Amino acid sequence: ATPTAVTVGVGRAAEYGILIKNGETLESSQDVDVVVFDKTGTITEGKPEVEDIETFDMEESKFLQILSTVENNSNHPIAKSILNRFKLDNIQLRSEGREDLSLLDLDDFENLTGKGLKANVTIDREIKPVLAGNLKLMEAEGVFVSEEVLNKFDTFVSQAKTTIVMAVNGEIKGIITLMDKIKSNSKHTIDALDEMGIETYMLTGDNEKTASTVANSVGIDNVMANVLPNDKLDKVSQLQKEGKRVLFVGDGINDAPALSQADVGVAMGNGTDIAMESGDIVVMEGDLENVVASIQFSQKVMTRIK
Ligand code: ADP
Ligand code: MG
Repeated sequence: ATPTAVTVGVGRAAEYGILIKNGETLESSQDVDVVVFDKTGTITEGKPEVEDIETFDMEESKFLQILSTVENNSNHPIAKSILNRFKLDNIQLRSEGREDLSLLDLDDFENLTGKGLKANVTIDREIKPVLAGNLKLMEAEGVFVSEEVLNKFDTFVSQAKTTIVMAVNGEIKGIITLMDKIKSNSKHTIDALDEMGIETYMLTGDNEKTASTVANSVGIDNVMANVLPNDKLDKVSQLQKEGKRVLFVGDGINDAPALSQADVGVAMGNGTDIAMESGDIVVMEGDLENVVASIQFSQKVMTRIK
């Protein structure tokens, strides 16, 4: 039978917006050694804004139309932001008395995790292969990246922007960049964990420069960039093999394996359904400080039981 303290504890936590799925989680949470964070949507708001668009041999509106057609099939925060920009540009076009652009026909959509998107899009009545994602995707698909594109890409990345390129028919047609805000309480959360003697890691599929800029500004010591979802899972397992008790915090589909593997999986309440299903704890509104609260809470409850 569950000790009363646990039942009461789970109930009290819920009042604070911390949904604990079972009493055992309280036990595993009390002596966490390491907290591993995902970046996008966990440390950052996950609502990136489009910053720059640079096209090569293509009108910006057409670039955005093709890109939005592909992104319309993804539920990554990047996709939502690009579609938002497309809608705004359409409103602008209409206000200028010009006809707005609609999404194009699309087929054979593929989501290549950690790399980007691939689909066939009907452009000017011709079906053309389109790729949208990072340089790993371009490399994997054999797309030639010119010195000019590479230089632009590096400049954007050095400004800590998430940088995406789009290729049509194997030719790069443009670069789009996005910038995400760090959550207001991320720094405070990391400071609190530091004080509790808990080690922190951040894992992200984003580029090295963006990753380290974010990690530095909140005080996370260990960063791994350009990681695939399975690398997140592997990192958690590796830390566990070193004898550490690991709490993983994430929000996306790509975090589900790591959330399940961790001793304690904490999902952001505004995250994807699969992440919320995989977590042991769901924190409402994606409030990061509730990660610290969950640990402190379980310590209190467990002391009371002993
Ligand atoms: P994270 O949640 O840490 O950003 P992901 O694995 O979701 O990690 O994404 C890793 C990278 O894959 C992104 O930084 C981006 O370069 C690329 N990517 C993912 N989804 C998309 C998308 N919808 N459009 C373009 N690129 C994408
Ligand atoms: Mg994420």
